Amino acid sequence: MTATAMTQAPKETLNAFEIAQQQFANAADILNLNEGVRKKLRTPERCLTVAIPTRMDDGRLEVFTGHRVQHNTTRGPAKGGIRYHPNVTLDEVKALASWMTWKCATVGIPYGGAKGGITCDPKSMSLGELERMTRRFASEISCIIGPEKDIPAPDVYTNAQTMAWIMDTYSMNQGYAVPGVVTGKPLALGGSLGRNEATAQGCVYVVEEAAKKLNMNLKDSTAVIQGYGNAGSIAARLLHDQGVRIIAVSDSKGGIRNTRGLDPRKVLEFKDKSASVVGFPETEAITNEEILTLKCDVLVPAALENCITLKNAAQVNARIVAEAANGPTTPGADEILFERNILVLPDILANAGGVTVSYFEWVQNVQELYWEIDDVNSRLKRIMTRSFNDVYQIYKDKKINMRKAAYVLAVGRVAEAFKLRGLFP
Ligand code: NAD
Repeated sequence: MTATAMTQAPKETLNAFEIAQQQFANAADILNLNEGVRKKLRTPERCLTVAIPTRMDDGRLEVFTGHRVQHNTTRGPAKGGIRYHPNVTLDEVKALASWMTWKCATVGIPYGGAKGGITCDPKSMSLGELERMTRRFASEISCIIGPEKDIPAPDVYTNAQTMAWIMDTYSMNQGYAVPGVVTGKPLALGGSLGRNEATAQGCVYVVEEAAKKLNMNLKDSTAVIQGYGNAGSIAARLLHDQGVRIIAVSDSKGGIRNTRGLDPRKVLEFKDKSASVVGFPETEAITNEEILTLKCDVLVPAALENCITLKNAAQVNARIVAEAANGPTTPGADEILFERNILVLPDILANAGGVTVSYFEWVQNVQELYWEIDDVNSRLKRIMTRSFNDVYQIYKDKKINMRKAAYVLAVGRVAEAFKLRGLFP
């Protein structure tokens, strides 16, 4: 073996669905689930792949491919976001859908898990093209979505406007307004106060709980944020408002650092104008790889999957890793971080604030009764704090990492519900 080969990290799968299956299997082993129950809980209930013919601005007809996967509906209607990204695959959507099942169960909200995605490059598309593609996709999947069946929400490169188009398309086909078919809608269409901030807010609530356990004063601490979209930029702002010094942030074009601290609001204004955080005054440029290994107290991955892997886990230099993103850490990296005593707040806990306030939005739509922001945030805080402590207790009792602890809680809840419902027919 050559010297280079010896220093290379062992190979690991980066297929999100294989990773999700492995995470599930770890919990199933600890819970001693029988093979039949395992097969049921690891297999998506329904995968719908659709062609999305779309008229482009130059007159061309483009045909995109989209997916909607419902992983498990044992505990309630399926719930999960829709992602637009060039790398979307059915396997990624299946993984994201299963993570939604476990996430809803971790925080105890009465939903199953789903996810959707379209393989496309939204940054190169006009608003008109995005609208036509979204409406056709919504129409193609309308046979399986609905307020009692499956409720989409925003994810990477989709937003409140995307949800408004889906709500309108679905409502036009039904013949009356159905706001409860999607969450993450604009306020003017029945969105909830606090939904836009919810993922980041929930993440900050669990970071606060984790900091208490580690006797860490957040006011004296530093944070690094990878990804500066809905989850990342708002997490940066909320942590900054708690007195945390934000020393580096990044987006798809690269990262910026200033150890004296960044003002997250000014960085966002700059990004809105120039389409990236890169080039923000008085900062040095760093790469998206470097940002993950900077010394800090709280590292918040808030972009895409598989950024903390066997290759860089030994160099992560944080006390807490708070996964605002879905699937940022591979199972091999999880083991290394656990051995190194870095507290990982797993995605199915740390970013569950988004789906929790989506649930509040849906409850408000169904009841046609709207809440004040204080009601939203106090209920969110209660759920996130309780869920953190439920997971932390299992982590302490079983001496397993926080992800395994969250999965034990979540898989145990879904398995119990499945047992109670029994098998149809
Ligand atoms: P977004 O589209 O608002 O932002 C994504 C950000 O990631 C952008 O700033 C983009 O530039 C950046 N990015 C993309 N590729 C990158 C790369 N290779 N390196 C660094 N940065 C990169 O998306 P979002 O809604 O903030 O979602 C981010 C993550 O949070 C995803 O994993 C998503 O599944 C997860 N999440 C989002 C929500 C939600 O409510 N929006 C809820 C739960 C989980």
